[in-house]
Amino acid sequence: KMNTELGQHILKNPGVAQAIVDKADLKQSDVVLEVGPGTGNLTVRILEKAKKVIAVETDPRMAAEVTKRVQGTPAQKRLDVLLGDVIKTELPYFDVCISNTPYQISSPLTFKLLATSPAPRTCILMFQREFAMRLFAKPGDKLYSRLSVNAQMWAKIDHIMKVSRNNFNPPPQVESSVVRIVPKKPRPQISYEEWDGLLRICFVRKNRTLRSAFVGTSSIMDMLEANWRLWCAQNDIPIEDGPAGEDDGIEMEDVNGNEEEEEWSGIMDVDEDEDDTPAFFKEEEAEKRAQLLKKGSKRKKKGKAAETVRRKVLKVLEQDTELAEKRARLCDEGDFLKLLYAFNVEGIHFN
Ligand code: SAM
Repeated sequence: KMNTELGQHILKNPGVAQAIVDKADLKQSDVVLEVGPGTGNLTVRILEKAKKVIAVETDPRMAAEVTKRVQGTPAQKRLDVLLGDVIKTELPYFDVCISNTPYQISSPLTFKLLATSPAPRTCILMFQREFAMRLFAKPGDKLYSRLSVNAQMWAKIDHIMKVSRNNFNPPPQVESSVVRIVPKKPRPQISYEEWDGLLRICFVRKNRTLRSAFVGTSSIMDMLEANWRLWCAQNDIPIEDGPAGEDDGIEMEDVNGNEEEEEWSGIMDVDEDEDDTPAFFKEEEAEKRAQLLKKGSKRKKKGKAAETVRRKVLKVLEQDTELAEKRARLCDEGDFLKLLYAFNVEGIHFN
């Protein structure tokens, strides 16, 4: 009896199972991480091609099945089954990852693999078709989203093959696709948190202009001001504070950022991702930062500091990058990198 809450859809087509393993181009020396081995359809095929398989399985019954399947064979010693949730498991070294992924963990698994160091040589992963398409979507594509930009920042992603529902037992609700994820080497030298923080703002509504996403949204401007104050405090830069002058006080165009509602409404298809891109590099500094923030920012709403930040943001968008009128759904990686760099030069940060 399968537990579909755990995404248990066993691959019953041996041809597809073999194709997935073949696509990994395994070497005899490889250590392979398999996520969710289930009854072991992929596992036994990987064991034929690789030195060792580390299989992480959360369901004890399945862990027992796959263990039993290789018992008494020469492959037995080359299979390590780790019982647990792969997201919470500290992974040992591996060269390649192969997974018929339980769909509930598609996003956290992808980013866990992208954050793994040293980076795996390649990952061959089966996902829901739509998740797969979002992973490799390009600017202007319907499914282009924060997930696309984020994943493609750290890896080259290709579509390998479509797999229809009836190859599984029981058949899932939706079609599937196999993708190959090859992490970039060397790893791009930017902060994951900053990059993701910037993308979160740009993709709240991917059809807004960047100007509107930033200066048209007071909550975003407040956050950037807080981050800027923190950055100044950390770098011993004095902040000119106090209330804004009467003439040059700040007016937000639109607190809720709804000014483009009409134009937007026709394009409601895919917007912000559900809960993509978890922060894997987070939290150690959080407490320290909170303290600094308290200390360095007795905030006066919409004061001089807010003005300064607004000016900086407009300078970045209008002059430095000339991206103020562009919409996130059409921006490519180069655009977002330019933005991040220009903001950072101005002392504006996103984590
Ligand atoms: N690999 C097998 C196959 O292709 O036939 C089974 C794939 S099935 C789609 C997903 C497997 O992942 C199930 O065996 C399920 O118990 C396991 N699983 C679900 N959530 C998991 C998690 N968080 N960590 C590890 N394994 C998980």
